[in-house]
Amino acid sequence: MATKQLKCELSWSASRAKEWDRCRRENWYARYASWGWWTEQPRGQKYEVMVHKTLTSLPAYAGDCVHRAIERWFELKRGGASMTAEELYQESVNLFREGWRQSAGDGWKARPNKSTHLFEHHYDIEIAKERTEKARELLERCAKYFMESPALEPVRQAHPDSWRSVETLDTYQYLGTKIYAVPDFAYIDGDTVHIWDWKTGKPREEDLFQLHTYALYACEKWSTDPEDIVLHAAYLGEEEVKEVPVNLEQLSKAQDRMSDSLRAMMDAHYDPDEDDLVIENWPASPEARKCGWCRFRGICTDAAR
Ligand code: SF4
Repeated sequence: MATKQLKCELSWSASRAKEWDRCRRENWYARYASWGWWTEQPRGQKYEVMVHKTLTSLPAYAGDCVHRAIERWFELKRGGASMTAEELYQESVNLFREGWRQSAGDGWKARPNKSTHLFEHHYDIEIAKERTEKARELLERCAKYFMESPALEPVRQAHPDSWRSVETLDTYQYLGTKIYAVPDFAYIDGDTVHIWDWKTGKPREEDLFQLHTYALYACEKWSTDPEDIVLHAAYLGEEEVKEVPVNLEQLSKAQDRMSDSLRAMMDAHYDPDEDDLVIENWPASPEARKCGWCRFRGICTDAAR
């Protein structure tokens, strides 16, 4: 049987859009420059770009551990078991330690695209004790808030039969393109679909746009009426929940923004296996602050130094 050839297809998500807006060159590195690294013999530039693509910062990694620990909580609940706040915290600590070991040593090298590799370790940035302590406190605070906050009671009480999505990586088609939407958690109560997103950082205006793209997903996937969707941004580290009922006007604004972003990406998209690179389509926008935390700063020729 012939193997299906992988093709570099355009896809869209709110986080890809953010990357595109931040710096198109970063978007090119992340989505095109490492394409086909697995066929590169001997390993060379594409492999190097892939290694940079997988880098994650300490705060982002701590947030990822919180997400995975909560996902585990849902798995246990589905099976009829449960966890205490302390156990949820320990789960996230164990995940954190496992990733830290991979990153601080050579463990990540065996499977760099599937391992944890911290930006700070890669670039030899000293991680002060206060930063790891801050990360530990974040894990603890998030676990406690998730398990004990009255604002999250409806999440903890929702019956597994009412769940519509738990960290499910899913897609739908829009303007002929695959759209990734990953609501952290969604459940239905009567006719109302509640969509939750766990946040471990501070509230940002952008979070609302991302949540609205999940509402678009709910309309598309579950044929939910926009008025029957309630969005919840749960800032676990800040110990607060923002509830946002969806209205048609806001949703249509989010859809327009998504369409504009997607069309701009469509104009620049190319197939690295077939087409020549037109680097002018991927201008760098260097700024010291931005480049300082960019994964690709070590290989980007335009990085602000
Ligand atoms: S280092 Fe700066 S210019 Fe280069 S890709 Fe990153 S953000 Fe863009």
